[in-house]
Formats: sequence, C-alpha cells, structure tokens
Amino acid sequence: MSFIVFILFELNLFSEISNLNNLAYTNYLNGNLKKSIEYYKALYETEKNYNALLNIAMIYKDMDDYKNSLYYLERALDIKRTDDVLTEAGWLYFHTSNIDKARVYFEDAFKLNSNNYNAVLGLATVYSQLGDVIKTVDYLNVYKKLRGDYSGVDYIFAWNYFNFKMYHRAKEYLVATLRKDPSFVEARVPLAQIYLKEGDYNQAWNQYYRILDDVPDHPVAMRMIKIIEGKLTKQPEEIRPPFKINNPTVIDETYDINNLKKSIKLRIAIGANDSGKQRANTELKFRSFGGIGVYGKSGKKYSEIGKNEILRLKYDHGQIYIYSGNNVIKNIFKRGFILKPLDPKNGSIIIESDYKSLNPYFKYSDREYRGDIEIVPLNNGFGLINIVDLEIYLLGVVPAEMEPKWPIEALKAQAVIARTEAVRRYKEGPHKKQGYDLCDTEHCQVYRGVSFEKNSSNKAVFETEGRVLTYNNRLAYSFYHSNCGGYIQSSSEVTGWGRVPYLISHPDYYEKKDGLEPWEFEFWIKGNPEAYCNYPGVVHDNEFRWMRIIKRSEINFKLNKRYNIGELKSIAVMRRSKSGNVNSVKITGSKRSVTVDREHIIRNIFGLNSLKSTLFNVEINRFPDGRIRNVWFYGGGWGHSIGMCQGGAAGMAGKYGKTYKEILNFYFPGTKVKRLKFIKKSK
Ligand SMILES: [Zn+2]
Ligand SMILES: [Zn+2]
Repeated sequence: MSFIVFILFELNLFSEISNLNNLAYTNYLNGNLKKSIEYYKALYETEKNYNALLNIAMIYKDMDDYKNSLYYLERALDIKRTDDVLTEAGWLYFHTSNIDKARVYFEDAFKLNSNNYNAVLGLATVYSQLGDVIKTVDYLNVYKKLRGDYSGVDYIFAWNYFNFKMYHRAKEYLVATLRKDPSFVEARVPLAQIYLKEGDYNQAWNQYYRILDDVPDHPVAMRMIKIIEGKLTKQPEEIRPPFKINNPTVIDETYDINNLKKSIKLRIAIGANDSGKQRANTELKFRSFGGIGVYGKSGKKYSEIGKNEILRLKYDHGQIYIYSGNNVIKNIFKRGFILKPLDPKNGSIIIESDYKSLNPYFKYSDREYRGDIEIVPLNNGFGLINIVDLEIYLLGVVPAEMEPKWPIEALKAQAVIARTEAVRRYKEGPHKKQGYDLCDTEHCQVYRGVSFEKNSSNKAVFETEGRVLTYNNRLAYSFYHSNCGGYIQSSSEVTGWGRVPYLISHPDYYEKKDGLEPWEFEFWIKGNPEAYCNYPGVVHDNEFRWMRIIKRSEINFKLNKRYNIGELKSIAVMRRSKSGNVNSVKITGSKRSVTVDREHIIRNIFGLNSLKSTLFNVEINRFPDGRIRNVWFYGGGWGHSIGMCQGGAAGMAGKYGKTYKEILNFYFPGTKVKRLKFIKKSK
C-alpha cells in the first residue's frame, strides 16, 4: 500500500506562538529533547512553572539519564513535597541501587497518601530487595487491594516469591499471570523451572514447548526440551490435548448463510506464516459431516468420500497422493485440485489436527471451513486456499478479531471494517503474486473459519451486509487494533505510515485534549485513567495496562538476535507521539548502538515475544556498579493505536450506548458507511 511520506520538520508549526510551553512540547514531540529541556527550563525561570521541572525530569529519564532526572525531581521537591513526586524519585533511587533512600521516599509518599499504589509497590519492591518477606507480602497485598484489576499484580507477586525461593507460591501467581495473559512468555520460563524442581517433567515440557511456539530459537527451551523428552510419562497429545470438532456447528436459524449475498469469491491462504506466506504441508487429513468430493480445476470429479470418512493427502517428490480411510490410493495429482463439501448448502470441510504436522497451525486444533479448499502444490509440499464468499468469510473473521461476547454495535463496527479491509485487499492484491487475496493471519486479518462462528458475530455480519467504510467515495484505510491504551495515535506520527486525513490523534474518550506532556504521561501510563477502552470485566485485564520485567539475559538475547550490540548498556526513548507511544528508541550496547523507529521492530526487540505495543515507559534497573540487572516496562494497549480501538468500540457501545456508525465516525472522522455496489478487481 502506498503512503505519502510525512517529513518531520525541525521547524515547529507554532513558531509565531511565543508560548514557551508550546515550544517545549513541540520540540519534545519532534524528538529535539535537549531543545525541549531548554524551553522547559526557560519556562521555569520566567514563570516559575512547577510542572516544567517535572517535565524536564521525565525527559531526562527517557534519555536514560537518571542522575539529571533526580536532580530536577529534587528541585521540585524543594518547592513542594507531593506523594507523586516523592514516589517517582523513590523509583529512580531504587533503579540506581540506592535502596535506603528509595525506602525513605516511598515511606514519605505513603504517609502523605496511603492510596498511592505506585508508592506501595515501591515499598514492596524495596523490602523484597532487602530480603524482608513479611513486609514485601504485606505491601503487595495492599497493592493488590488498590489495583486488583491490574494484570501486572500477579506477576509482581510471582517475581517476588520466586526471588524468595518460595516456589510453590510463585507457581500459583505465574499460573494466574498466564491465565490472564497467555502471551506473557517471560512468565513461562520461571514456571518451567519450578515444574522441573518439582520433578513434574510433563508440565515443564509443556511450558518449554509453549515458549518455543512464540520464540522458536529460545536457547534454554531448546536445550531443556531435549533433556526432558525422555522423561515424559505421558504422550505429548495427552499433556496438551488438541481441540477436536466432533459435532456440526449450530447457528441461529434466523441467520441462514444461504441468504447472504454472493458478491465476490475470495481466495484465502489457510495456515499461513506471520508474513502471510503459505506454509508447505506434507500430510493432512480431511473429513466432512456431509462428505467430500475431489475435483480437478476444470470441474471434473475424480473421487469422493462419505460422511465422516477420512481423506488423507500426502506429499512425496512433487506428487500429492490421495488416500481413503482404508489406506487405498484414490488419486495422484501433480497439479492443483479442489476439495468440495458434498452438502452444497451447509457443508464444510474439517482439517484434522495432527501433533506431527510441520505446520504449527494444524498441530493442536481441528480447523473447519465453509466453501471449497484448493490444494496447491508448493516446493516441498502443498498449500491450502479456501475459496469462499466475502460475507461467509467475514463470519470467520469477526469472532476471531473481536470477542463475540462484546456488545453487538461494536461487533457491527468490526464487521464493516473487516469487510472494507477484505475488499481493499481483494482489489489491491498484496498477495496477488502468491495466488490468493488474503492470508488468514494478522498480516491481513485473522480468519478462523466455522468453529469460531457465534450467533452474535454472525448477526453483526448479517445486519451490516455489504456495508463498507468510505472516504470521498473510495474505500477507507480502516485500520484497527485491540486496545489503544487510552489515546489514539495519528498515522502521521508513526514512521512509514504517512498522513491520512481521518487517522488522527485524539484521546479514546469524549474529552478534547491535544497530547500528553512528559510528566502527565508518566502518571497516565502507570495509572488507571478514564478511557473508552478502560472497560474492566469486558476488555481483558492485560490489554489496557500491562507490565513486563525482563531479565538482562533475555533482553540481551533478543536484542543481539537482530542487532549485534554486545552487552546492553542503555535504552533511551528519543521520540514519542502525542499519545505517548514510543516512535524512536536508541539502544546502546558494548559493541555499538542502534536507533530503531519502526513500530513493529520497537515492539519486537524487547521481550521474548513482541511487546503488546509501543505505548510504554521503560525503567532500567542497575546494580551499584552500573551493570543492568533487569528492565521494567509499564505498558498500555495492544497494537499500533491507529484507527479503531476495538476495546474502545466495546466501551462506546457498552458503556455509552453508541451505534456502530457513531463508533466508526469517532475513530474515522469524515468517513461514511456505504453499501457496496459492485467490485471490480484492479489489474
Ligand atoms: Zn496477508
Ligand atoms: Zn482505546
């Protein structure tokens, strides 16, 4: 897709406004941090602006200059002692191994305000470092009372119990952490270690295996899995039972899929990899509740199997063999062919999970699709393309991209933008060369087929049938993300995205506001601010606010995988959006330093798998001699924060009774919902 390149001018846009605060903030947004600090200093000198001192302190902190940051926090404290400033200074003392001072500051903050949860967490952490189990647990319990909905709580408990070698308790909290946030791979490492200590090889194997799902070359997991394999007392399939489809999916009769308009047929690559390319399969089993026919591309029928019988495909030296249930070769193909369900109305094809499959997509779960499946020969196997009507495709996208139990108007907004995205890709064809319109991963949009369908999401597709989002009568760029963390990012602020008139920055809330200043951001990201997507009980705990504490060894492993920086020395945030999202970060190692400004790379280089977003505050914890001990991320949101916030859509619909059109108008101002008339594929 083509974007207009947006150039960040060194010259700020408010040049005629003499307001020092604007100058300071604009320079901050443009990444001129030193200039920004100068303007904030001038603002303090001329207007005695107290917040200017705090903003300076936070910019120095982003620059990984904790000494200067503390200097300005202390100056602010000389003027006024507030619990927030004391707490912030306490954390910087803690991270620079000045534990005694940190304790005093946290205690003073706690005396001023016993509800200051960041101070409470500080006290727990200080006492943990001092080896005082009782006080640590006491303060953690207070913290949990104050921030019960925060997904970081369990991990902090686990982290501390693990450090105290109280493994049984650590295990409980690690399991709780992973229940709330299965993508938290870092939590699996200590959990696997605990299972090993307990001699529970099956569960240790399971955890290491799941680490490899996300980080296929994790050195410890790779080594351990080989060591443990011989000690397992159960079959892998028993330890991690696959999801099986044993009965036809029953859908509300009001929504008869045969009544959906057949506007275009889409070709969807099934079981693709993260970059949307087809993975080669060498052996797969198929079945259907109504039987399957095997057809050539010309329409000639070669063979068929009956209800619930198994059709096995096996690739060998450029040929695909088709076996029936009793292992009889039915056909041999060199070219592509098509599997069709024999029940033309409600038929579907199931691909059986197989623990030994080379394609991870088919390892742990049966998959079921409406429409036909074309088998395509690839270099070392065969690929699968689901040929399906646009609206029927959407039935398998909406529930995969949004919780089907969320409010119906949010689901309808999702249906409209998923349809828009599908049609745009059908026309523009990012995968045209590969022979399909969309892949089934996040690269395009997630499509999971029939077994994911729910009445609610089907209803959303039916009630918005044929409707797409347009701008000036053309399909809009209907980007969306899971959760913005409270503030939508403008596409023009993110490297490589460019300016789009309706993808603009604004709070994910009805208030009008033009950006978060450094100090404001600090408490916003560590706190629990109002936002449409802050919707406890509906939006998952780990999405609006999250936390990661990453050990030096793990962050070094990940950074050196991409950049040969040597031992990590420093992480400096160089530029943030108005929303606070990090858009440029400088990483310095013993060998060299790199500056990273691509959204997905910033997310990818920290943590074992990707961080959920670039909306984070990073705090580097060091030993007294300056070596890094670990790195703390206080994060918010999931995804790129551009376009529609899905959690916010749920909040707008559920908390404020907004319709899907109002939701789309809020996230894509100036766009219109229109009905598809005809679609022509651009050649
Ligand atoms: Zn794709
Ligand atoms: Zn949001």
